[in-house]
Amino acid sequence: MKNGHETIRELLALAAAGALDDQEARRVEEHATACAECAAELERWQSLAGALRRVPTPQPSRELIARVRAQAEWKLAQEAERRRDTRVMALLLMFSWTILLTTWPLVRLMGGGVWAWLDAMPGHVWFWLAGYTLLGWLAAGAAVLLGLRERGARRTA
Ligand SMILES: [Zn+2]
Repeated sequence: MKNGHETIRELLALAAAGALDDQEARRVEEHATACAECAAELERWQSLAGALRRVPTPQPSRELIARVRAQAEWKLAQEAERRRDTRVMALLLMFSWTILLTTWPLVRLMGGGVWAWLDAMPGHVWFWLAGYTLLGWLAAGAAVLLGLRERGARRTA
């Protein structure tokens, strides 16, 4: 064995990994055809190298599955968020209008004697009514803005 069994043995792993140049690879191959021990070891290294090469192969598909799942989850979350936002908006709008409708008679009730005074001054009545209407709409507007800001914050998160 002109190339030396021990020398070739050291090259078997590199040969299996395809890390040898053509000349060295041919030397290993030639020795392996004549040396059963080296041929067996080369085969072991080759199966190991093949296994190592096969390992990363399923990863893109796993990645793809994860990506598709994440996308589906994101879409579902977005849909749920959209539905919840509409519900929250409607609720807050209703809330602001309820406040508007309940506080107005309350002001009237608390006003008591003031009401008669207000009644005598229709200009003030309209001022208060306009004020409370504005308050109700401000509450609704704030609710919408809050909802939009929360949604934006969640999207960037
Ligand atoms: Zn050998």
